[in-house]
Parts: sequence; C-alpha cells; structure tokens
Amino acid sequence: MKETSLLSQMEQYALQYRVPIISPAGASLLVETVRRRRPSSVLEIGTAIGYSTLLIAAQLPSQAKIVTIEQNPERARLARQYLRQAGKLDQVTILIDDAGEAIPRLDRTFDFVFIDAAKGQYLDYLQKVVDKLMARAVVIADNIFFRGLVEENMEPPRRYRTIVKRLRQYIDFVTMDQRFITDFYHVGDGIAVSNYQGERRQ
Ligand code: SAM
Repeated sequence: MKETSLLSQMEQYALQYRVPIISPAGASLLVETVRRRRPSSVLEIGTAIGYSTLLIAAQLPSQAKIVTIEQNPERARLARQYLRQAGKLDQVTILIDDAGEAIPRLDRTFDFVFIDAAKGQYLDYLQKVVDKLMARAVVIADNIFFRGLVEENMEPPRRYRTIVKRLRQYIDFVTMDQRFITDFYHVGDGIAVSNYQGERRQ
C-alpha cells in the first residue's frame, strides 16, 4: 500500500484509540533531519503503532536498518502489521521490551536515535545508548517541553513534577555535555536535536 494512505490510516487509528503519535510539525522536522543525516542504523525508543517508524523508514535506502522498542505488545503487533503493509518490515526489528532493559543489550551502533517513550526516562535512555553512538550521530527527543511545563518558572502540577524535573535534567545534560551540540525547537510539544561530536574530554 502507498505510504501516504497508510500513514493517514494510522493517524485515524491513533486518533480513534488515543495512541500518542508525533505531531505533524514534529513529523516534518523528524523527516527533514533523517533526510539530511541519511542514517544507516536507526534506534527508535517508543514505537507505538509504527507511525514515526514508517516516516523514518520511508526516507532510508533499503540497506539501512531500524531497531525500534515498544513495551506494549498490542501496539507492537499493530506496528508490525502496518510496516509489513508498507513493505518495510525487512528493514525493521521490533523489540517488545522495556527500553531501559533492552538498550544495554543491543549489540549494534547507531547514527540516528529517536527518543519518544517514557518522558521521565529520557536521560537514562541517552546514557545507556551513548556508548553505541557513531561519530556524528543525531539524537532526537520528542515532547521535550512537555505541555509547556518544562520552560515555566512555576511549580508544575504534582502529578507531572517528576517528569518535568527529569526532562529538565535531560535538557541540562545535552546542553552541558561537550559531546553534544543541541538545538531546541518549539514544534509540537518541543523537540531537541542533539548532534553527537564523538568522545571528548570533559
Ligand atoms: N514514536 C511514536 C510515533 O510518533 O508514532 C509514538 C510513541 S508514543 C508517544 C510512546 C510509546 O512508548 C508508547 O507506545 C508506550 O507504550 C511506549 N513506552 C513507554 N514506556 C516505555 C518503555 N519503558 N519501554 C518501551 N516502550 C515504552
């Protein structure tokens, strides 16, 4: 099936069943960054139904590979189904697992990482993947400003306090750590694009 009609089917499914997927503006930035970087080995953390996976896969040459991690088996099953329909399943490995557990076990290196799973775990994911990054890898993190609460000076509502604190820690890390040069974009819920410079003395 054509990617565009499959993507709109997925959008409708996501809307109907309240599956969170990347915003249209975020999707444009993601696609544009993939186009520019032309990665050969992608790690996606948070597959959901495979919408962003398909956006990425559509930009890659057939020899490039994607590993994507999703802890919800039903969502992973749907992702597999959609990616098969798109003819992209050969390029994609879907791991049904907790990302924090799965990442340390990965025995590949990556030149593109898309972080879009548990908001409170972004820094943990990045710290676990950093020794698997190729020089000039790009790391994109979605929802980085989390409903505008991350940039506000006011105390966030109690139920979001941990997420907001941890997203701020992620932002501090990719801003201060000299291995990364990071740009922040106010698109969707906020996106950070970090360019990995390779190992450097801190
Ligand atoms: N990237 C997808 C897209 O734009 O189409 C959307 C991903 S959705 C925002 C986040 C997904 O991460 C959910 O499907 C959720 O089940 C999954 N998730 C949350 N915590 C996770 C974890 N610890 N390990 C793996 N997946 C997780």
